[in-house]
Amino acid sequence: MNKKLYSLSAHELDESLKNNAIKSEDICSALESRIKELDPKVNAYLKRPKEPLSGDAFVSTGIPVAIKDNICTKGFYTQCCSRILEGFIPPYDATVIKKIKESGHSCLKFKTNMDEFAFGSSTENSFSGPTRNPWNLSCVPGGSSGGSAAAVASDEAIWALGSDTGGSIRQPASFCGVVGLKPTYGRVSRFGLIAFASSLDQIGPITKDIYDSALLMNIISGYDPNDSTSINLPVPNYTKALGKDVKGFKVGIPKEYFVEGLDPEVKASVEEAINSLRKLGVDFKEVSLRHTEYAVPVYYIIATAEASSNLARFDGVQYGFRSKDVNLIDMYKKTRGEGFGEEAKRRIILGTFALSHGYYDAYYLRALKVRTLIKEDFDSLFKEFDCILTPTAPTAAFKVGEKVNDPLKMYLSDIYTISANLAGIPGISLPCGLTKHGMPIGLQILARHFEEEKIFSLAYAFEQNTEWHKLKPKLT
Ligand code: GLN
Repeated sequence: MNKKLYSLSAHELDESLKNNAIKSEDICSALESRIKELDPKVNAYLKRPKEPLSGDAFVSTGIPVAIKDNICTKGFYTQCCSRILEGFIPPYDATVIKKIKESGHSCLKFKTNMDEFAFGSSTENSFSGPTRNPWNLSCVPGGSSGGSAAAVASDEAIWALGSDTGGSIRQPASFCGVVGLKPTYGRVSRFGLIAFASSLDQIGPITKDIYDSALLMNIISGYDPNDSTSINLPVPNYTKALGKDVKGFKVGIPKEYFVEGLDPEVKASVEEAINSLRKLGVDFKEVSLRHTEYAVPVYYIIATAEASSNLARFDGVQYGFRSKDVNLIDMYKKTRGEGFGEEAKRRIILGTFALSHGYYDAYYLRALKVRTLIKEDFDSLFKEFDCILTPTAPTAAFKVGEKVNDPLKMYLSDIYTISANLAGIPGISLPCGLTKHGMPIGLQILARHFEEEKIFSLAYAFEQNTEWHKLKPKLT
């Protein structure tokens, strides 16, 4: 029995824990053997020299959560998969980690793989090598939270946390056939999340099903005086939204998301999902989000501008890696030159350019104005509609190495997820099909600010009427 515990969801395990049918140690030892068996192939977890994945590392309480390497964990390495944070051990826990501990659960002491500083869509930009997609090891798991998504998909984790700046929870969830939620901006504290783009970043759950997503949201949501952008609003019990009748729900289908570039198999699966929800009485209507075509360019100006500013603190003095040079100025230069990877450098240069004197108005300021237009598109639709439904990504997972040398192609894999970050609204990805090559396809549901409950109601109704979330990759 012990052996199979890794394949259960958190709510199933929680019930067994409460009935004293199992102990937390049983879950930990099941996970330990699963990780030992599969992670040499999947590489969902980081293997730092001083951090062995065995014995003590698995001593936990409750149901351990797998944590992305950009979320600070007191006493345990946190390095955003970057060389520049080599050896950095945070002296404090991120608020989400504190909340998990307060709920009686715990966090795995080793972290999940990610693109360096969350820059990427494939988890190939990591000091620790790429994570592989459990459904096909020659494919990427998506990114940047690819380690967390692959760990959940391969049953190497029961549940996990990721972060989403432009799609980094939803797109890997879609590629790996699991559930990923980006909460409303301000719903979950960012305190202790190492910043990529502060006006876009949110931490959120990556889980095996919708119920677990709601459970983990109950734990991590809420106001935090340590994060000036967190909102002081009561947190609903999200599990109460599950099972609600969705008859009469009004859902918009934006026509701009169903154009050239969308893989026909993805399109067909999303259309099938629409049909099955229609049978439950959901009311669909085609709508327009007029400024969709500007989302990617606007995002890559705002996100790189904020990243260039946030990454200025890594200079070899306060954290992590320091180059050997004794001369101060050369030490700064060499530390950053040797510590940052190629994509991080590309973004620092782009962002610094967009913010520089003479270009600020033409790029950054303009991008902010278009961002407002994108948000207003959503605001006006949500006056009439409960939710918006789209594909999560234009394709299923692509091959490792396929896009690494073409940043623009890589950037386009977030074309359907980026707008939610620009507007600050919540969005989920849940499994809705498989391609003919057996790769998962994701369905995205968006809602108005702080209306995660509507997302959960609709997503749960879909999940309960389909079998997609029950499929597992055949890894062994
Ligand atoms: N793939 C996008 C990027 O590279 C989004 C990343 C993210 O959400 N962290 O910026």
